[in-house]
Amino acid sequence: MPVPKNCPHCGKLYLEVGHKMCLDCFTVEQEMEQRVMEYVRENRQVNVKDIVDNTGVKERLVIKMIREGRFMQSEYPVAYPCESCGEPIFHGKVCRKCSEKFMDEVAKLNAANAQPQNANRHSMAMMRDSDKRK
Ligand SMILES: [Zn+2]
Ligand SMILES: [Zn+2]
Repeated sequence: MPVPKNCPHCGKLYLEVGHKMCLDCFTVEQEMEQRVMEYVRENRQVNVKDIVDNTGVKERLVIKMIREGRFMQSEYPVAYPCESCGEPIFHGKVCRKCSEKFMDEVAKLNAANAQPQNANRHSMAMMRDSDKRK
């Protein structure tokens, strides 16, 4: 038995049948996606901002489509901002620079953890982390 849920977009009650929104919102989203696909087909080398500005589709939806790999088969990959610095990227979550920086930090952290005298600093960092989560 499907349970009625509130649509996360419009708040209307709907029966979940595989979509995470009501049928109205799903139809709208389908149309939006169609518009985005057409725009990407007709324009080369577009980025998320171009799409949002020219189709009126919400950035959230465009990024969702990229994450789902909707443009992977397309000849023209769509650039979207690196989650860390905002540089345009074509795959993954962060650009190469940021992922290298991140790997570097992880390596440093691992090296620091390997030395017992740094144990205190490490647990401080852990406490700061758990504070953030509150
Ligand atoms: Zn809805
Ligand atoms: Zn970056």
